[in-house]
Amino acid sequence: MTDPNPTVPSDFIRDIVAADCAAGKHNGRVVTRFPPEPNGYLHIGHAKSICLNFGIAKENPGGICHLRFDDTNPTTEDPEYVEAIQDDVHWLGFDWQGKKFFASDYFEQLYSFAVVLIQKGKAYVDSLTAEQMREYRGTLTEPGRNSPFRARSIEENFDLFRRMRAGEFPDGAHVLRAKIDMGSPNINLRDPVLYRIRHAAHYRTGTEWCIYPAYDYAHPLSDAIEGITHSICTLEFEDHRPLYDWVVAETDAPHRPQQIEFARLNLTFAVMSKRKLLELVDKKLVAGWDDPRIPTIKGLRRRGYTAEAIRAFCEHIGVAKRDAVVEMQLLEYFIREDLNKRSPRVMAVLNPLKVVIENYPEGTVEEMEAVNNPEDPSAGTRRVPFSRVLYIEQDDFREDPPKQFFRLAPGREVRLRYAYIVKCTGVVKDPQTGTITELRCTYDPDTKSGSSQEQRKVKATIHWVSAAHAVPAEVRLYNPLLTTDLAKIPPDQDWTQLLNPQSLERLTGCLVEPGLKQAPVGARFQFERTGYFCVDPDSTQTGLVFNRTVSLKDAWAKIEKAQKTS
Ligand code: ATP
Ligand code: MG
Repeated sequence: MTDPNPTVPSDFIRDIVAADCAAGKHNGRVVTRFPPEPNGYLHIGHAKSICLNFGIAKENPGGICHLRFDDTNPTTEDPEYVEAIQDDVHWLGFDWQGKKFFASDYFEQLYSFAVVLIQKGKAYVDSLTAEQMREYRGTLTEPGRNSPFRARSIEENFDLFRRMRAGEFPDGAHVLRAKIDMGSPNINLRDPVLYRIRHAAHYRTGTEWCIYPAYDYAHPLSDAIEGITHSICTLEFEDHRPLYDWVVAETDAPHRPQQIEFARLNLTFAVMSKRKLLELVDKKLVAGWDDPRIPTIKGLRRRGYTAEAIRAFCEHIGVAKRDAVVEMQLLEYFIREDLNKRSPRVMAVLNPLKVVIENYPEGTVEEMEAVNNPEDPSAGTRRVPFSRVLYIEQDDFREDPPKQFFRLAPGREVRLRYAYIVKCTGVVKDPQTGTITELRCTYDPDTKSGSSQEQRKVKATIHWVSAAHAVPAEVRLYNPLLTTDLAKIPPDQDWTQLLNPQSLERLTGCLVEPGLKQAPVGARFQFERTGYFCVDPDSTQTGLVFNRTVSLKDAWAKIEKAQKTS
């Protein structure tokens, strides 16, 4: 189905691209790229970058977005991440149209560009120790000093660089540095390191290389090699842009991409740094990269998020130049909106309380007609069995009801959704513990839902399942993994100590209506009155497991209302 009236987002980056196209810059072509380092799984922040880069390519005729693995660091990268990243980009609804690249494929070209710099006198081999280099670099307020090795001849530099590549030196013995300006107010221009010696095997190039290019060198040249027109990155690279431009210009690279920065996505209470996510996974503090409590694409997906909701969220937050923190409730608002439209409604009882309808004939089963989705009439209706013994939610009964409580209580009536009005006539308790084990009720046969007699109104309607027909299930409820926002935790404090011990609540002994018995992994439902749920891959033939994607309570609407009135 194509949207007859798609909204095309607009922002300062799209304005730049449009102006460039209008001016015939880059021959009117638009080539963007999404350049993840395969050292972890993608998260919701990456989704923002994916929507932006692939989105701009899609909106421009002939536009294309490359998928480039920025894999210049041998020790942290892994093919598992390469696979997962591709899968996530596809799942989000984007495609690189065959344009998949690896920075490691450019190692030879990057080496040749370095030789060009050496021969132009624009790069030199430095042999200071790392500590000395730090001393020489200066500070934000003091200029740096030239290394004594800065004056090496072109011949000597070339000879040393060649021997660095040949593996003649141990790690740290030498580096190749750009010769720019040790007095520059921009520290990035104080002769940045271009190559380091690292005797480490790379997941793609093996031990072919023992020198590896720095990000600030490899990245602009990878963009140039691929003919990227607009190299969109996050704000922290703004101060690196002069270096980006320097590298492209001084190497006489075949093409000059334009770097544009935007503000990264920050979400309250979310663990979004790859390093921290890796720590959670490695220390088994979460179930894996797809744990529904972390905002990885795989985690959100397992939790029941849709790609449509994530894209709508990314579009809504937009692209700006100023850093901002987005409330987690906004993301929840978008998934709720999407699931409200698409999810079939079902009845499921999370904390069951047995109900016996004393005047309902034993052995009789009625098929009650239930609406699948009030938001979507085409979703039709289904039949839900009703019988003498049912289960309702423990929360829907109070022996001693408080003032605002209109649900079931001794002597009170409620409507059972799609069925009858019932009245509570008695309570059965465990003689030892005093806890309520069963409610006794009577039903009014003249109140069947949808029948002409359905005149009588009661204050509350509650959901239920038939004891003989319901299917048992485990339901997993998720609460925030962190109860303190990460931004408020001092860097020297062990943040993993602050994980919420209640972040996962497993409810066993839940009961869902019989139609869910064959529900496939990933299927999404609204459990009436409790929230949106999806079938977890842990489900087996013998036991369904559901994840709560999001509750029905719309915290965001409240926040929005409060914001409007303040
Ligand atoms: P690292 O610290 O390892 O560089 P990273 O989160 O930047 O982590 P990359 O694999 O380099 O990870 O990210 C790929 C792309 O996604 C980059 O272009 C980066 O700018 C973008 N990106 C990463 N995090 C966010 C975020 N929170 N919001 C928007 N874009 C992001
Ligand atoms: Mg990065």
